[in-house]
Amino acid sequence: MKRLENKIAFVTGGSRGMGAAISKRLAAEGAHVVFTYSKSKAKAEAVAAEINVNGGQAQAVQADSIDPKALTAAIQQTIAELGPIDILVNNAGIYIGKEFKSHTLEDYEEIMAINVRAVYVASLAVVPHMSNHGRVITIGSNMAENSVSPQTTLYTMSKAALAGFTRGLARDLGAKGITVNLVQPGPINTDMNPSDSDLADFLRSRMALSEYGTGDDVAGLVAFLASTEGKYITGTAITIDGGLNA
Ligand code: NDP
Repeated sequence: MKRLENKIAFVTGGSRGMGAAISKRLAAEGAHVVFTYSKSKAKAEAVAAEINVNGGQAQAVQADSIDPKALTAAIQQTIAELGPIDILVNNAGIYIGKEFKSHTLEDYEEIMAINVRAVYVASLAVVPHMSNHGRVITIGSNMAENSVSPQTTLYTMSKAALAGFTRGLARDLGAKGITVNLVQPGPINTDMNPSDSDLADFLRSRMALSEYGTGDDVAGLVAFLASTEGKYITGTAITIDGGLNA
């Protein structure tokens, strides 16, 4: 029997990058995966098709995380069709990097809505229905603990908020055996942070392992936390960054 057989997983932002890798991995481990996307319909459908053709179960749903009603509706529809969600992966996120003097209130509203508020919104919709031993896993960033370069103020602030959310919710849900954890990746080769960008060599110079990680590296950790093997890990942040924060 596969590790996540008979589990329902909901992943935000599964059309590309880490979210796509996480969706594929959870499905390969036996979970029925519903994942959201905001703009990349064709890519989302391709990810779902790849999972389904390989014998897994996946559905892509358009739901912009900036819109609490759309995200809540997607979760409610999933629960109505498939039953309670066992594994919530809050992955969708954006990066806004620029000099502080160029920042606007709109930048703040946008990044906090997607990187922080949507994590809260999704959890509010999922948790009341979650059965015992469920999993809430959020993708933060190693930058919550190490703002490695300038122009990262807003992003670092948004990702740092997730540690408090994780600790608090772990206390709220521990009695049901539900674990709540934060995965903090470092540089992972995706559209958000390509390994051939102008910044990449600087980042590599700061890592113990000197190379970018892959979505699969993060997906393996998420699958472990989602499985029974991760049952005693809760309320904590696990950094997976090639030693950048070492
Ligand atoms: P990508 O930009 O490569 O992919 C982002 C994914 O999230 C896409 O599927 C995208 O959907 C989706 N998404 C973005 N905004 C929204 C939204 N408003 N509503 C719904 N879905 C949305 O990012 P990564 O895979 O690199 O990042 C995934 C997570 O990991 C993020 O939280 C990011 O902050 C974090 N992270 C990334 C690191 C890295 O080095 N790459 C390092 C540390 C953390 P669509 O295709 O439709 O736009």
